Amino acid sequence: MLKSIETIRGDSQGLAYQFPVLRFDGTDPAAPSAYLQAALHADELPGTAAIDALMPKLRAAEAEGRIRGRITVVPVANPIGAAQYLYGDHQGRYHTGTRVNFNRDFPLLPTPDTAGLPDDAALLPADARLKARLVALSMGHDIVLDLHCDDEGLDYLYIHAALWPQMADLATDLGARAVLLWEGSSDAAFEEAALHPYLQMSPDADGLDRRVVTTVEFRGRADVDPRLAATAGEGLYRFLVHRGVVADAAVAAAAPWDGVAVPLENVEMLRAPVAGPVLYHVAPGDQVAAGDRLATILHAPGEEGGRTDLFAPQDGLILTRRTVRTIRPGEDLLKLLGARASADARPGALED
Ligand SMILES: [Zn+2]
Repeated sequence: MLKSIETIRGDSQGLAYQFPVLRFDGTDPAAPSAYLQAALHADELPGTAAIDALMPKLRAAEAEGRIRGRITVVPVANPIGAAQYLYGDHQGRYHTGTRVNFNRDFPLLPTPDTAGLPDDAALLPADARLKARLVALSMGHDIVLDLHCDDEGLDYLYIHAALWPQMADLATDLGARAVLLWEGSSDAAFEEAALHPYLQMSPDADGLDRRVVTTVEFRGRADVDPRLAATAGEGLYRFLVHRGVVADAAVAAAAPWDGVAVPLENVEMLRAPVAGPVLYHVAPGDQVAAGDRLATILHAPGEEGGRTDLFAPQDGLILTRRTVRTIRPGEDLLKLLGARASADARPGALED
């Protein structure tokens, strides 16, 4: 394994950001290559813990000559977000300097050639240069896994419709309960940037039949513990074996996936109409029927008529809910996966 350090110039004097990149050379140039990164949203750490659990397996495989395809691993992809604290609270989702989401506005290249990406001398803010660097590091790998998590939720994956159901083995290996299929724009999330050049190619050259690009949602922000990390690390390892990146005869073939795959427009986001404390009547994993009460907002606590109840717009599976139990009008309370399109479906990414 080789370790190198990437440096991103800070936007003020005396400031620079660094993050390590861990690389394994493959023994077979024809084998698929893999890129894994975690904590692009810097406050989402289940993926970092999963990578920490995965790495000893990869080092053992390397020692035994079983790494077939090259592997690039970035355990902590966002040193800018990792350093952002405001009055003691971590701010890992948006760059406080530009107010841009760390997982939006990635450069969408017309081809896999990264020569035209801005370098660290470009007159761009640090977060934009970090995004260009992550695209450059990942481009050219057959498998690109961007490890995130939700607020509080089940394991699920975002996958472009062109890669489904070809990627169902990943859903099995990671124990994903749901897959959200997207098309069009994701507001240039990293996942879209990793796939975009290949979507521009002719079908005989794009390799979409074996390409893997996804945003992995490893449950919720608080799901960082030894057991979940070990399970996720084993799942990542099994997938690398199943796709031929690593050789390991002891790993059995992937079982068929038995979760729910729906288009993005089938996700009911359940928007709050009023502000106040939130009482949830459901939790991730619950199956609900249309009309079931999902949450109550105490818009006038203690007063008669001071509760606002919110009900399921259709039958479905509760995928996620908020960790913070206060809400403002227009914010989303939870994700419900339904069998038909939401009347409230929005274009682009589900969340800001
Ligand atoms: Zn995220």
